Amino acid sequence: MQAVKVIRVPLRLANSYLVQGEKTVIVDAGDPGFSRDILKAMRKNGIRKSQISLIFITHGHIDHYGSVFELKRHIDAPVAIQAIDQTYLESGTQAPLFPLNRAAAFLKAVGQDMKVRKRYGLKADVVINERLNLESFGVAGEIIHTPGHTMGSSSLCLINDTAITGDLIIRRYLFRGPAERVAFLHNQEAFLQSVRTLRERNIKLLYPGHGSPIRMDRVRIPNRPQTTTADRK
Ligand SMILES: [Zn+2]
Repeated sequence: MQAVKVIRVPLRLANSYLVQGEKTVIVDAGDPGFSRDILKAMRKNGIRKSQISLIFITHGHIDHYGSVFELKRHIDAPVAIQAIDQTYLESGTQAPLFPLNRAAAFLKAVGQDMKVRKRYGLKADVVINERLNLESFGVAGEIIHTPGHTMGSSSLCLINDTAITGDLIIRRYLFRGPAERVAFLHNQEAFLQSVRTLRERNIKLLYPGHGSPIRMDRVRIPNRPQTTTADRK
């Protein structure tokens, strides 16, 4: 199978990605109202709508799936998400946000207030459990379950030691600062296991859900386990 090219499409806050092999897979769709930007990036890169074989949503947060229902009006491709988070995609709600600090708690309060009024749900066509090989979708890669940020979070691992990892790891201030665990974490143990899984797969470069690519050897994981609201329950 031919090499894979990853095109990052920055959408104000979140990233969408165009993963080009024999066919093209779209990873994440950004907040509502951004389908035009994704279609524009496709045109710019000479990707036709008919070449899209799959729209993969890394997890059930609206800044990652918000434009998927708009995209589906233009693109006739199945939508895939992991089983746990497909509940949130289908109902147009958010997977629970467990903030690790006060700044994150503030963001949660502001964000939820803005988003509850809008519903952008959509039923997934492909529900992933532990893994999904994308060979039949024309891309040399595999989607694997990497819970932590949300319990249904998943990553797309590609043949060239890179992975698109949603909100598993991002920079501290979204676009700058050290690369570390995201400030919203559902489960610490699951998160650590997901990072181990990526390391075992020899992943060297991460394409995060926000900001620019991150080198795996630069990722900082705190030694001290930090409990989240979810762990304490
Ligand atoms: Zn998220």
